[in-house]
Amino acid sequence: MMSELKINLSDNRKDKPASDKLGFGKYFTDHMFIMDYTDENGWHDARIVPYGPIALDPSAMVLHYGQEVFEGMKAYRTPQEEIVMFRPDMNLQRLNNSCERMSMPQVDTQFVLEAIAKLVEIDQEWIPDGEENALYIRPFMIATEPALGVRASKEYKFMVILSPVGAYYPEGIHPVSIYVEQQFVRAVRGGTGEVKTSGNYASGIKAQEVAKTKGFSQVLWLDGKEHKYIEEVGSMNVFFKVNGEIITPALTGSILPGVTRDSVITLLQDWGYPVIERVISVEELFEASAQGLLEEAFGTGTAAVISPIGSLSLGDLNIEISGGKTGELSQRLYDTITALQRGQLEDSHNWAFKV
Ligand code: PMP
Repeated sequence: MMSELKINLSDNRKDKPASDKLGFGKYFTDHMFIMDYTDENGWHDARIVPYGPIALDPSAMVLHYGQEVFEGMKAYRTPQEEIVMFRPDMNLQRLNNSCERMSMPQVDTQFVLEAIAKLVEIDQEWIPDGEENALYIRPFMIATEPALGVRASKEYKFMVILSPVGAYYPEGIHPVSIYVEQQFVRAVRGGTGEVKTSGNYASGIKAQEVAKTKGFSQVLWLDGKEHKYIEEVGSMNVFFKVNGEIITPALTGSILPGVTRDSVITLLQDWGYPVIERVISVEELFEASAQGLLEEAFGTGTAAVISPIGSLSLGDLNIEISGGKTGELSQRLYDTITALQRGQLEDSHNWAFKV
């Protein structure tokens, strides 16, 4: 493997956007990380260079058969002016799991973590001020071999880009309205839903568009076989509080194992809540709601952290959850996780990685 990281700093620094106008993933910092892979030489030429376009052969395999994987995590500045990332080891392990599923080469997670830390350190002035803002880190890998045969590429590029971001949902921690998607599916068991590859997201856009035109924020994905069991909400894992018990869909092979999901389960257990990972049908959920037992529902993910669900619509049926307001537990989880991410709470699980 490689031992050396070359650094070529930009002499053309960009203006930074105002911290109240960031949106999500619209601005990119001054530098990026790249390394190349060939079957003969493994990973090589690791470098931090000025941010900019890359040259790709039009026959690069990623453009035709979609061999791509990516990750998403964030860096924050603590009140002590330290820079921390939240559980990046989990993201890098998931990256390697994604590579394995997509027949792509894995990376040395320790080296990549150090490279990301260096990149964030170099571009640290881009970490935005403001409560809900952070520096989003997007590692990704693409197949670059110029060839049209359907097989694994023999060449790849791994890159990391950084983007100062604001709240993912313009609604922020306010509850969103969700459309239960009964026609389109996101993933099937045996497919690629449990890893982070671009095709999963490309195929999900249609349902998202339909839901938007109907006035909903996002879709609730059901299982790909029976269209009955709840899997995820938008690009988030999903939790329900039913009669005092917390239920989240079990990781049965078509659900992405979220870092936030894992953190939420750990915190809830710390707080003494029973958390049950099992299959849950949309019918069971609507039944619980009819009986007045559905107390809260929320999505979890790096981008939005906690996204409370205010209402769910299934065909003509519409149910309101927590009176359409942010539930108590959703708020407590949001406050706790965001404080942990920003180094404002004692880090008893060692989740913070200092840059
Ligand atoms: N499900 C999907 C499909 C996602 O894209 C994401 C975002 N990575 C999540 C769940 C949440 O994962 P995490 O908490 O690691 O961001």
